[in-house]
Amino acid sequence: MNPERYLPRSLPASLKGLTDLALDLRWNWNHCADVLWRAIDPEIWKGTEDPWLILESVSRMRLETLAADPAFMEELRNQLAYRQAYMRQPTWYDERYGSDRLGSVVYFSMEFGLSDALPIYSGGLGVLAGDFLKTASDLGIPVVGIGLLYQQGYFRQALDTNGEQLAFFPFNNPTMLPVLPLQDPDGEWLRVSVELPGRTLHLRGWLAQVGRVPLYLLDSNDLLNAPGDRGITGELYGGGTEMRLRQEIVLGIGGWRLLDALKISPSVCHLNEGHAAFVVLERARRFMDQHDRSFSISFQATRAGNIFTTHTPVAAGFDRFPPGLMTQYFSEYTKTLGISMEALLSLGCSREAENHDSFNMAYLALRGCGRTNGVSRLHGEVSRQIFRPLFPRWPQQEIPIGHVTNGVHVPSWDSAAADTLWTERCGKGSWSSTLETVEYALKNVDDEKLWTMRNEARQPLITAVRRRLIRQQEACRLSEKDLRQCRETLDPHVLTIGFARRFASYKRPGLLLTDPERLTRLLTHPKHPVQLIIAGKAHPQDEEGKRLVREWSEYLRRPEVRKHGVFLEDYDMGLAAELVQGVDLWLNTPRRPWEACGTSGMKVLVNGGLNLSELDGWWAEAYEPGVGWSLGDGKEHDQDPAWDAKEAEELYMLLEEEVVPAFYTRDERGIPTAWVTRMRHSMARLTPLFSCNRMVREYTSDYYVPAAAAYQRRAADNGSLATALDEWHLTLLSHWRQLRFGQCTVEESSVRNLFLVEVYLGEVHPSAVRVELYADPLSPDSNPVRITMDRGERLSGSVIGYQYHAVVSKGRSAQDYTPRVIPYNADASVPVEINFILWRE
Ligand SMILES: *Cc1c(COP(=O)(O)O)cnc(C)c1O
Repeated sequence: MNPERYLPRSLPASLKGLTDLALDLRWNWNHCADVLWRAIDPEIWKGTEDPWLILESVSRMRLETLAADPAFMEELRNQLAYRQAYMRQPTWYDERYGSDRLGSVVYFSMEFGLSDALPIYSGGLGVLAGDFLKTASDLGIPVVGIGLLYQQGYFRQALDTNGEQLAFFPFNNPTMLPVLPLQDPDGEWLRVSVELPGRTLHLRGWLAQVGRVPLYLLDSNDLLNAPGDRGITGELYGGGTEMRLRQEIVLGIGGWRLLDALKISPSVCHLNEGHAAFVVLERARRFMDQHDRSFSISFQATRAGNIFTTHTPVAAGFDRFPPGLMTQYFSEYTKTLGISMEALLSLGCSREAENHDSFNMAYLALRGCGRTNGVSRLHGEVSRQIFRPLFPRWPQQEIPIGHVTNGVHVPSWDSAAADTLWTERCGKGSWSSTLETVEYALKNVDDEKLWTMRNEARQPLITAVRRRLIRQQEACRLSEKDLRQCRETLDPHVLTIGFARRFASYKRPGLLLTDPERLTRLLTHPKHPVQLIIAGKAHPQDEEGKRLVREWSEYLRRPEVRKHGVFLEDYDMGLAAELVQGVDLWLNTPRRPWEACGTSGMKVLVNGGLNLSELDGWWAEAYEPGVGWSLGDGKEHDQDPAWDAKEAEELYMLLEEEVVPAFYTRDERGIPTAWVTRMRHSMARLTPLFSCNRMVREYTSDYYVPAAAAYQRRAADNGSLATALDEWHLTLLSHWRQLRFGQCTVEESSVRNLFLVEVYLGEVHPSAVRVELYADPLSPDSNPVRITMDRGERLSGSVIGYQYHAVVSKGRSAQDYTPRVIPYNADASVPVEINFILWRE
């Protein structure tokens, strides 16, 4: 098929630059070119804010008029010059690392939430991936994204007259999306293929430009494919297990092949969640081809350059596939790897906990990546717990999973008013720098300024809410009276609370509705009223979630509350942006610890909104008195209904006794000084900490740079280091069982203990292991104690053994320390790459 029919329409020569501007999704966070789009078609602009749609819809005549308009042409030239300047300006990465330290980083994700103009996301995971690419562009990190171009994406929500959720899957016409088909040098569509049982699947490539960062997308809707296969990239998270497996094959295996076809050879490969885990196999396979090495060596070499970010807080949330299905899809593939199906399956299983009864994508990801992290401090801890089956007998603190707390791309979520205030305080472009001065710069903003900003932000939100309300009720044939009611819903002077998120039961969207009468009293208080804006989709198969949607929309239609609250349908990024810019308080009530991080609450920070949230995810590390309010006791209570009831009570109390009074207690200038003090503290302290800028810098310095170096070392010289590591690994594998402890004695003196431990090594070379003394940490926040013991004399006897010794100052009792043997190699990371451990029981 000819890719040309998917190319942008041709414009008058002098307007060609408009195509470049519309195709660069930076318009989504840098609004300086808005003037152009508004000038071309104010109507479509107002309705969609989608430059690409404007460009594809505007008439030829209008374009010719614009081309003859000197003012428009001047503006266009300016905008193109600004874009050039952005692309060329030195970045944080250039300054910190100079050019080309990393090679490039490729970022794999099942979904990307960049803009509603490119609807290939469902929720938090996608929005994070989108914010990540935008920030990588701003900071100049050499990132390339890989994802799927869905024909339908995630479902769109509407409510029927009874408040029941309806799900729609409108078709995304690719010519109406800001993407370009990828062409090879002959002008043919750039394609890659993957093997499915009995057939080859052809995949087309697309490009979405995100500032400096290219995002490459694959789709299977090619006439070369069988009808059933054309829909593989149809719905995001739709279909059953087998469909999900096919999608993940496309993402991981197809994705790496696309990079190859584009002649991109990244040193770092970052897996955003386990969906993309097959890439670790394909990357190794490619290494085998290029260097003529075994799969095992190639896996060792490439693993060092792979990074896995897990987002799942419960083991049941991992993607799993039945072994039979895996065999159907991978038996040919394993031949190209030169390994058995059994060997492949074991990469997705834990030997102890499961008898190969399912293939766990998160296990494959962890085994195939040199570094793994969770997405908040608490989620790091939780992940160390749920990945324990892969590290039997290792203490939980040593499970090799760190954390990088998520953040949000601030320029995508700030209001125009907030942007003005921050620019005045911190200078232009501060979100592309290191943010060191932010806290100080914000500390002395005066009350009046902050309060004015807050009040001015509430009004546009309410206007937008009313507009949405009218639109969503039009289908129900509004009467004049209904219309009037819509126009009178909400009040720009009233404390405005937002609650918008997926209606999954762990988020407890019903908590605030536990006692409807009490809630009504809050909303309709004659002097100190509160108003609510609720939004959220329930997965079409989630009956409980759909019931909660109906319950909220029914409640909010009660005559006595309908002025004070609304349920807005079809929660998406556009609606999220309106909400986080306008609300005073953002409410979050997940069941701890099921919110791995949560990011929506971070989006209100820059806008001066406050958080009231369960102590879960990011809030468990962000909260301190004075920045907002916390719910719960910081402990886990599972799904205990009694505890839910207790927390509902606590939530009402907080609102009635703290939140509402803080908002309505005003000084002589009409300013709620206690509220504003909280705002200032939350903005100054938390905005920089929970920005994606901080997150991307952390990934770069703590993950990408070391991973790139490790990969380059292992890959050099045709993988000679990887080969040596493989030999070390194999030796330990065959001889580990020979290791055993002999005598252990402690010689105590008044100030220190001398530990003497006999270890028989058999055929294991002493340099391949380390003997340690281990003691549990004294408090949950500190690290365990690990003391390396020195090797002393060889023990007499036929089996090779040595006496190891270590001197430990007194303080903890000798019984606290346990000797152990673990594998050791200066270039390997233990226990990620080899989980052996022998304790002296
Ligand atoms: C930010 C965002 C999310 C993620 O928010 P949570 O805090 O995880 O609920 C989900 N959906 C949309 C549309 C968002 O903008």
